Amino acid sequence: MSPGAGGGVTRTGLGWDSHRFKAGRPLILGGVELEGAELGLDGHSDADVLTHAVIDALLGAAGLDDIGAHFPDTDDAYEDADSISLLREVVAMLAARGLAVGHVDTTVLMERPKLGRHRVAIRERLADALGLDAASVNVKASTGEGMGFVGRLEGVAALAVATVRQSAA
Ligand code: MG
Repeated sequence: MSPGAGGGVTRTGLGWDSHRFKAGRPLILGGVELEGAELGLDGHSDADVLTHAVIDALLGAAGLDDIGAHFPDTDDAYEDADSISLLREVVAMLAARGLAVGHVDTTVLMERPKLGRHRVAIRERLADALGLDAASVNVKASTGEGMGFVGRLEGVAALAVATVRQSAA
């Protein structure tokens, strides 16, 4: 672990998630509903695959297990849950341990619709939940080039990395 800007220690976490497309559901990515999307994502919660990846990156950096350990999909409390509020809970959980989020970078793997025109809104929404400037939250988009479950339009995947700084005791 390397020294962080505040004299503490900076740790990195990795997050990954995937959800299957399903008709009749909204497509929500990073807390933003992509209006006009033909298909949404299936899941116990709102199936916000991008926010789930960010949550796992934060939990990973903090050494706090994973999203399923904190918000089990067998718990009715999380049925159709707003993933952005879960993200806010995780940020508070980290803060209670003296951990501050430094920066988040993400990639959404989705054949269509194009993410481009939603990227600014998604960055701003995630940044607000993370307590960061939008400049510290990056959202990239990639496709499956027709290959694999992304390319076959079976679902969407997301990757995230996050840095978390432990304040010096
Ligand atoms: Mg998920």
